[in-house]
Amino acid sequence: MYFEIADENADMLADDSYDAFVLVPLFVAMYHKQDLHICGNISRKLYQNIKWYIPRIFCDFSKALTLINLTVDGFTSTKPKGTLTGASLSCGVDSFSTIYDHFIREDDPNYRINALFHFNHEMRTHKKILDNQDFFDKSFEGNRLAADSMNLPMYSLETNLYAFNTKMKDLRGKYFSIAHLSLSSCVLSLSNAICRYYMPATFDYQQAKVFNKFAHKDIAEFSESYLIPLIQTENLELIPDGCQYRRTDKVKNIVNWEISQKYLHPCNTYTSNGLNCSVCPKCLRTLLPLEILGKLDNFSGVFDIEKYKTISDKYKLRCLKNYGKEPFETESVDFAKENNFPMPALNKPATAVKKKPVAVVKKK
Ligand SMILES: [Zn+2]
Repeated sequence: MYFEIADENADMLADDSYDAFVLVPLFVAMYHKQDLHICGNISRKLYQNIKWYIPRIFCDFSKALTLINLTVDGFTSTKPKGTLTGASLSCGVDSFSTIYDHFIREDDPNYRINALFHFNHEMRTHKKILDNQDFFDKSFEGNRLAADSMNLPMYSLETNLYAFNTKMKDLRGKYFSIAHLSLSSCVLSLSNAICRYYMPATFDYQQAKVFNKFAHKDIAEFSESYLIPLIQTENLELIPDGCQYRRTDKVKNIVNWEISQKYLHPCNTYTSNGLNCSVCPKCLRTLLPLEILGKLDNFSGVFDIEKYKTISDKYKLRCLKNYGKEPFETESVDFAKENNFPMPALNKPATAVKKKPVAVVKKK
């Protein structure tokens, strides 16, 4: 396992602790039903949280995992080190909402973001490592322009932790996603520099209660709101940020921010013009709230609005159909209703709807 950073930032890497090398090995060891010994020192606080709490969450997440014994050589010093308050910059909705709140709106210097990070910590395809590297390099360049516009430093770090994720499957034969564990580990690896980090959360608190029973694959979707606060050391605090918002609320949060209007890029699909593809699930769940808010034109520089309009009615019908089953589509229907936005009728073809809009489905 390795973490790699540019030479000029080498001092940021924690060289006195193995905190960054615990979480992913713990998950792997629990999957393979093997005890784990860390041949080095880790934070006493992190050790306590692993001793009592974290493995129980893993076992709740999947029956493919079992409790094991974790031992370590010893514990690290508790002397404070880092001064950076950081967040991930991906130019997606979660990332921008967090940065908007804790950089633009935050006035306490102890909690205000003063550095941004770009981690190559997850495999976007299980087969092509080179494609993953290409994707990382391209997105890094785009994100750096956004960081420069905010006058914030951005640091990039790579790890191979995702390679340990490729062979573990749940009891239904699906690959696990433990990207949040590798992301947390990237942050821990930089504990010489970082003292506080806002971790991007997927679901809001209410959605987590309703939808986590369907989260068999992704440990973050299953437990981020209570797992992330347990990933702590004496010197480094991880905060799950975004649990206070639905995704539609995050879109609303950043809709008037010029940085998001210029750089918003939730899409993972490669396009030759560099714009968001405007038709994938990630684009659609961003574009519909923008349409509901009447702000599509403000984002015409990063989305192909005309392309979106060709399938938007079809997507709205899908949201209505999946109400109560799919979290983002459910909240889009609620968001439409809250904003008196007319949605198509579920039992009619999308083309007929434009002439006679019908109210949204009511929440049961
Ligand atoms: Zn897309």
